[in-house]
Amino acid sequence: MNAENIKILEKLKAGNIEYAEKGMYTGNVCSAVRLKTAKEGQHPYAIVIACSDSREIPETIFNVGIGELFVIRVVGNVLDNHQLGSIEYAASHLDANLIVVLGHTKCGAVGATIAAHGGTDKYIKYIMEDIREAIGEETDDYKATVLNVKHGVKEIEQAFADHPEIESGELDVIGAVYDIETGRVEWLNER
Ligand SMILES: [Zn+2]
Repeated sequence: MNAENIKILEKLKAGNIEYAEKGMYTGNVCSAVRLKTAKEGQHPYAIVIACSDSREIPETIFNVGIGELFVIRVVGNVLDNHQLGSIEYAASHLDANLIVVLGHTKCGAVGATIAAHGGTDKYIKYIMEDIREAIGEETDDYKATVLNVKHGVKEIEQAFADHPEIESGELDVIGAVYDIETGRVEWLNER
């Protein structure tokens, strides 16, 4: 991981500790920062791919405010061309170079895939197919969530390995699992 991204990761870790252990949210969402970012544009420093689950709120989890995270939320934090396009935009045009794939405990999409529920729904099936590819035959909820996050990390790394506008070594991708009970983030693949 490059030096700048290490600093950003440390900031996210510290923010999560503030949130989980001290029960605080002090992210800056005041009108001054709203007006400043509206006038000057956004410069988020990290990209977060999170589940749409209403219990997993990235800005709160990392104790940050307006203009800090470029968040992509989709059920099961799966990745398709729309999500990859969103990452590409944030990385190439906004210079956000740390990508966090943030799964969470008790994810309904992972659980439904394990139980093979909902596989015939018109559109949900596409999400479940992606999760099935990631988790294989794993039946443990937590282990499956970790596999799904790691699969996402690998997909992003492969998608941007030879990107014309992104220099090699600029982007770093890290997986994490958010515990919806404790509020803590477990980081999966630090190196
Ligand atoms: Zn979920």
